[in-house]
This record gives sequence, C-alpha cells and structure tokens, in this order.
Amino acid sequence: MTASDWNKILKQLRTKPEKMKKFLKHNKPKIRSTGVAKQKCQRCGRFGAHLNQYNIHLCRQCFREIAEEMGFIKYS
Ligand SMILES: [Zn+2]
Repeated sequence: MTASDWNKILKQLRTKPEKMKKFLKHNKPKIRSTGVAKQKCQRCGRFGAHLNQYNIHLCRQCFREIAEEMGFIKYS
C-alpha cells in the first residue's frame, strides 16, 4: 500500500475500534522529518520528481503544465 492512501484502512476499521487501536499502535506510518515521503506535490500528490527550488513544491509534470501561468519563460 502506498503512503498516500493508508487512511483507507482506517475507514475499514471504523466498526472495529479495538483492531483500529492495534493498527494505530503498530502499523501507522510514522511522521517523517526528511526524505522522499515528506516531499509531496501540492497540486497532485505525487512523490517523484519534486521541485523544491524557488519554494515551488510541485512535481515536474505539474510544473510543466502551469509554469507559464507562474511567470516562467521557455527559451527553447
Ligand atoms: Zn504534481
């Protein structure tokens, strides 16, 4: 299961409070301070190809789509 949808498990466990408690104690992904899982695209939620430069926090695909609206000029 990917890091983006682990909350779906909690939806299934809503009717089983004891199992949910056990899940949260042992299987909940820990809150990261660094690393790839910390850097998520603000527009689409992708983890790969993240752009931190100029505090953009977008993936390369989203940047390609909205770069001209943001004021970037393509020279080639
Ligand atoms: Zn994106």
